[in-house]
Amino acid sequence: MLEITRESIEKATAKARIAKPLVKVIEFRRYSVTNRETGATYEVRFTKIGNQKFGECTCPATKICYHISSCLPINAVLASQMIQTA
Ligand SMILES: [Zn+2]
Repeated sequence: MLEITRESIEKATAKARIAKPLVKVIEFRRYSVTNRETGATYEVRFTKIGNQKFGECTCPATKICYHISSCLPINAVLASQMIQTA
């Protein structure tokens, strides 16, 4: 698991804006991310421990990758909806 901080996702977010991968929701905090050019699909999961957020991806990257950063906006929207309905 990799900790998600503003610093750690900065580069990945820039890459996600260029790559624009296809993100599908599997369930809350679990997403499938597909590279539109290669068709490669990876699974991203998020975990929250206290105030720290963590992400993991099935791709070979050892840092926060653009798959993780691509899912963050969707995860934030789903999280806000969960709070409203709870
Ligand atoms: Zn990845």
